[in-house]
Amino acid sequence: MIEFEKNMRFPQGKQKAFTLSYDDGVMADKTLVQYLAKYGALCTFNLNSGLFDTRGRHNSMNEEECYQTFVDTPHEIALHGHRHLFLTKVPTYQGIAEIVQNRQYLESKFGRVVDGMAYAFGDFNEEIKHYLALCDVKYSRTTHSTGTFELPADFLQWNPTCHHVDKNLPALTKAFLEAKPLEEYKHRESLLFYVWGHSYEFDDNNDWHVMENLLAQVCGRDDVWYATNGQIYRYVTAYNSLVWSVDDLCVYNPSAVDVWVERNKVLYCVPSGQTININK
Ligand SMILES: [Zn+2]
Repeated sequence: MIEFEKNMRFPQGKQKAFTLSYDDGVMADKTLVQYLAKYGALCTFNLNSGLFDTRGRHNSMNEEECYQTFVDTPHEIALHGHRHLFLTKVPTYQGIAEIVQNRQYLESKFGRVVDGMAYAFGDFNEEIKHYLALCDVKYSRTTHSTGTFELPADFLQWNPTCHHVDKNLPALTKAFLEAKPLEEYKHRESLLFYVWGHSYEFDDNNDWHVMENLLAQVCGRDDVWYATNGQIYRYVTAYNSLVWSVDDLCVYNPSAVDVWVERNKVLYCVPSGQTININK
């Protein structure tokens, strides 16, 4: 039996995806939401639920401002701890309460499931990953930049490509846009460009042009999927749930989304709930 090369492709067979992750629920998020609407990018906003209206803390929004800023947008809201604690520095039961309170608030306020997260201060360890899984948190972003476009091997330790202040941002942007996964001899995996930060940094440093330049370059392209962190998590999970026959010629998609796979350099869509047969 010949094992053919198979690679996940993003929706519509795209080979690249772009996502953003911004933390803390601050007033500058309103400006960021405007830029995202102008260029058509999607972001995951990681929100605390016990720190509203603490103006000294980089202008945290109040409850109503936070709700109004995000409720009618296509962006994802995600967990960032009730009070932005160092999870490794509090007892386990307090850490769990920090996550569950945060989740209960955001879910009841916004009327949706909130099961993504970014670690406050990038602080986590194996025990924390374990209890996040028990709390049914699906993914959590770290603050460790990879400088690559790789998808995470462990979604509870999701390392981004870079922070927006990274001096390599222009070079990474160029490399992402110029990459041609289909033409690689090997390592033909799909690419994810994942940028994170805090929107108040653009106000503090008076450099909103960094975000605008990034969005102007990356957005509006046919070969890039613009998605939230949660959409990427769910798509990759759906791809990984494909069931293949032993001869690799038949594949069943038990998930609720259509999934694209490139097998032996041919692109296939496996519709939700359906089985397709691949010609020899
Ligand atoms: Zn934070």
